[in-house]
Amino acid sequence: MIKAIKGTKDIYAPEIFEWQEFENVIISVFENFNYDEIRTPIFEETSLFARGIGEGTDIVGKEMYTFTDKGGTSLTLKPEMTASVMRAVLEHSLHKVRPLNKFYYISPMFRQERPQAGRLRQFHQFGAEAIGSDDPYLDAEMIIIPYVILVNLGLSNFKVKINTLGSPNERKEYKLVLRNYLQPKLNELSPESRRRFETNILRIFDSKDKHDIEIMKDAPKISDYVSDEDSKHIEQVCSILDSFQIEYEIDGKLVRGLDYYTKTTFEITSNSVGAQSALVGGGRYNLLSTQLGGPEIPAVGFAAGMERILLALSNEKIKIADKKKIDAYVIVAEKQFRQIAYVLSLMLRMSDVITETDYVGKSVKAQMREANKLNAEYTLIVGQETKEGNVILKNMENGNQKVFSLDDIEELINEIILGEYNPDELEELPPDEYIN
Ligand code: AMP
Repeated sequence: MIKAIKGTKDIYAPEIFEWQEFENVIISVFENFNYDEIRTPIFEETSLFARGIGEGTDIVGKEMYTFTDKGGTSLTLKPEMTASVMRAVLEHSLHKVRPLNKFYYISPMFRQERPQAGRLRQFHQFGAEAIGSDDPYLDAEMIIIPYVILVNLGLSNFKVKINTLGSPNERKEYKLVLRNYLQPKLNELSPESRRRFETNILRIFDSKDKHDIEIMKDAPKISDYVSDEDSKHIEQVCSILDSFQIEYEIDGKLVRGLDYYTKTTFEITSNSVGAQSALVGGGRYNLLSTQLGGPEIPAVGFAAGMERILLALSNEKIKIADKKKIDAYVIVAEKQFRQIAYVLSLMLRMSDVITETDYVGKSVKAQMREANKLNAEYTLIVGQETKEGNVILKNMENGNQKVFSLDDIEELINEIILGEYNPDELEELPPDEYIN
């Protein structure tokens, strides 16, 4: 048997209902904040990510799904969205059309990592990119949006961590200070951190090695080396969060791995998901546009891992999707009336009545059982009575049955849509002329 690739997942009922509800929550929050959706291709030229994310990062260095197509071009399955969204903005000159482009996305991403709980090779992120402004209100908004989404989903066991990475000049200076601090301790660092010392020194802060953590505790903090202007920027971000009563922690060790970050960086972590605790990550990336050959365009964004958020929900025993329910199940009680039953189902479906019927020749009893399993509000029995042109409508909650003529399907549909009603009462409603 051929199986799905390790680190990928099929998502189907009932789990898919959780995903769909999750997506509804995401979309409705983004609509309230007036962000437009953007969809970019699943693959891009490898150089986009190499230049955008940076050669020294884990993503580019070891995690990308890269292949050469038949034309000899090196392509990569997208490991994140930011570089793709910036490419799209520059390619279509969207920054010239509107000074600020606010986009959101929901998309699969691909990284060749060692699969474990909360870490997949094809996973899904939702996120946003606000491209065209250096306004600290947008930095705060990139924290507020995922925060509101997590709260709307019912989660509470999470923490916001913030830091500032300053601007390139100060960061260069800080990296030297960090180098000087670590040089005499180099032999004590783990092999991975020794490698990072050469390639991406800030990432040593992300090491999970106990001894590395001990050493980094006393390391100089980047926030002490940023300019006054950048300090003011992060202070403003914090003050905006304060006014919305979002609790956060300033974490001087939060550096995040990507080259394009400047100023604000943040993470939202959960205590409910084990080792892979980061649910959301993001920050400002004022350098990315120029790194991709564009003009200077300030921008800020975030990305949230959907599998990890669903894992947090499941570990906190929070169900976001209701049990599946349908409106009507059309039971084929006499095989000769199958086509009538099917046409009846179609008419109901065309009237927005969620309808199921039998396709596998089940007995009447088994169809009843199926209707119960699907929590059908009504069953329609197409059998004996159909010889006289009638069907039976059964209310599954109270067991009441009513006979309807197939000549008056509208009345039948009204009963299903409106529930049991007295037609005489309806006749007492004012005539149309009165309403007009
Ligand atoms: P990053 O782009 O690495 O900052 O990731 C942003 C978010 O995506 C993380 O906080 C995770 O929630 C999620 N994420 C990243 N990598 C994976 C992965 N391999 N599997 C599942 N979720 C991931």
